[in-house]
Amino acid sequence: MKKTILSLYLVLAVLAGTWAQQSHLIGITDTHAKGVSSVPRTYVDAVFKGGNIPVVIPLIEDEALLEKLISTLDAVILPGGEDVNPARYDEKPSPHLGEVNEKRDDFEFMIIQLCVNHNIPIVGICRGMQVINVYFGGTLFQDLPTDYIDKSIIHRQSESREVGTHTISVEPGSYLHKVTDSETLLVNSFHHQGVKKIAPGFIVTARAADGVVEAFESIDRPIIGVQFHPEALMINNDSTMINIFRYMPVRIR
Ligand code: MN
Repeated sequence: MKKTILSLYLVLAVLAGTWAQQSHLIGITDTHAKGVSSVPRTYVDAVFKGGNIPVVIPLIEDEALLEKLISTLDAVILPGGEDVNPARYDEKPSPHLGEVNEKRDDFEFMIIQLCVNHNIPIVGICRGMQVINVYFGGTLFQDLPTDYIDKSIIHRQSESREVGTHTISVEPGSYLHKVTDSETLLVNSFHHQGVKKIAPGFIVTARAADGVVEAFESIDRPIIGVQFHPEALMINNDSTMINIFRYMPVRIR
C-alpha cells in the first residue's frame, strides 16, 4: 500500500480551508522585538494574498485573556525571529548562539498550548518551526555552521529575502507536496539553526541536499513547519508559495 504521510486531521483541516467560502482569521504572533508589538509586513501581505484575514496577536501574559483571543481564530502563524533559549531543550548555550527572547519563548509556548487545547492549526515559519519542535520535545542545532558536519549549503544567504538560493526535496504525500504540487522547491534561507532531534509525533517532509530539515508536519495534529520563508518569496507574487497561505490548515468548526 502506498505510504501516505498526510495525517487525517491535517487533510480535514486543509480541506476546510479549501472548501469554505469565507475568509479565515489567521493570527500572526507578535515578534515582541525592542519594545514594539509588531509582525513583519510580509506575513500580513502573504495571508491577505492567500484570501484570508491577518490578525496580529500581541504578546499578552494573561493566559485567560489570550485564550479568549486565540479561540476566535481559525489558524495561527508563528513567524521567524530569534533563537529559542537552549535551556528549553536542556542544552547549555553554545558560544555561537544568537539573540534569545525569553518573553517571546514564554508567549509562543503558551500560544502552542492554547492552540492544541482548541484544535487550532499552527503554521511555524523558520523560528516558528523551531519553537514547535522544542515545545513538543525536539532539539535544535544551535549553530549550523559550527555544529553541522556538511558545510556544502549556505543556510544564511546574503541575497535578498525574495530570492531562493537552495533547493529542497519534498516528501511525496506531505502537506507541502500537496499544496505546492512539487517534489523540488527553490527556497530562501535565513537560518543558522535547524532541527536536530525531531519532536516525537512529527515527521520530516522536506530536506535540503545537505540533509538539513526544511519542513515537517505532525502525524496527529494540524501542525506544519517550514524552515524557509514563503511569505518573503511572495514579495514578487510567487505563484507556488502563495498556496501555502491559500490552503492553510484551518480549524474545523
Ligand atoms: Mn535552509
